[in-house]
Amino acid sequence: MRSNLTVVSEAMVHNIIFDGNKAIGVKAYFNDKLHTLRCNKEVIVCAGAIQSPQLLMLSGVGPADHLKEFNIPVVHDNPNVGAHLIDHCAAAIPVILKTEARIGDYKGSGLAVTSFYQSEWAKKNTPKAGADMQIVPSAGPVFVGWGPSALMIQIFGDNPPHLHTTKGRIFRNLIYLFRGWIRTLLKSAFLSVMNFGIVCNQPQSVGSVRLKSSNPYDHPLIDPGLLSNDADRARLLEGIKKVRQIYSSAPLAERIEKEDKPGSNVVTDQGLL
Ligand SMILES: Cc1cc2nc3c(=O)[nH]c(=O)nc-3n(C[C@H](O)[C@H](O)[C@H](O)COP(=O)(O)OP(=O)(O)OC[C@H]3O[C@@H](n4cnc5c(N)ncnc54)[C@H](O)[C@@H]3O)c2cc1C
Repeated sequence: MRSNLTVVSEAMVHNIIFDGNKAIGVKAYFNDKLHTLRCNKEVIVCAGAIQSPQLLMLSGVGPADHLKEFNIPVVHDNPNVGAHLIDHCAAAIPVILKTEARIGDYKGSGLAVTSFYQSEWAKKNTPKAGADMQIVPSAGPVFVGWGPSALMIQIFGDNPPHLHTTKGRIFRNLIYLFRGWIRTLLKSAFLSVMNFGIVCNQPQSVGSVRLKSSNPYDHPLIDPGLLSNDADRARLLEGIKKVRQIYSSAPLAERIEKEDKPGSNVVTDQGLL
């Protein structure tokens, strides 16, 4: 407990308040009303890779033309805000096993047995940059690591309720309440599935985050820009082929019934990407 610290949970910041170009506080919704919170020194924006730029743009910091589309008064014209979204591009090649997946006995994620390597592309082009690729195996119940957000996207599609809204909170609490059942259900559904995920750890593709509206509860428009760079496409393709080579090698090969996705009939580079 610190007398100079107050933590408020379930709060939704609507925007940062500026005096000229100096941040002097935030407007945040909690306990059923919108509060104005002032600061003496600084506002630290730590709303994550997606919502930090969203919050800045909602507050008037971002590309002026874009902010004007939503009648948001421009505090600082900066085209870089939301323009450098970089995420790992990854592919999953799940296979159906003939027997239950024993690797699923691991507690936690497949990261326990992950492997890093340098792609042929990197060996040729950026040899000093180290391992740029990762293969992440997971199997059976290990898949059950999915969080509520992933489940919400499965259920609600592109527009899941915000976790900060009442609907989002109810859903999150329901998942928490029934987590035992959900886990058991998922376990039985994925018992004989195994997957090697291929992750591009030094991606060069760049995407963007833009506002959909001036409403802080609207999800922003996210263009992940994944695979928009040739280098990422070359590396991912190489990784997919490497994983298929592992699947077809002993002793794994004899345990695999079939490739689930994309399926062994997909063989062209275009089809695989
Ligand atoms: C699937 C996945 C796997 C990952 N695996 C790893 C890993 O293995 N190792 C690793 O080091 N990193 C990993 N990361 C990355 C890591 O999770 C992030 O780098 C880290 O969480 C970033 O922390 P942060 O505090 O900046 O943002 P976040 O953790 O995103 O926190 C932002 C917080 O701000 C809140 N928020 C957003 N908008 C508002 C608003 N308007 N008002 C109030 N609150 C708001 C959000 O609810 C959230 O709680 C992974 C990320 C993902 C998505």
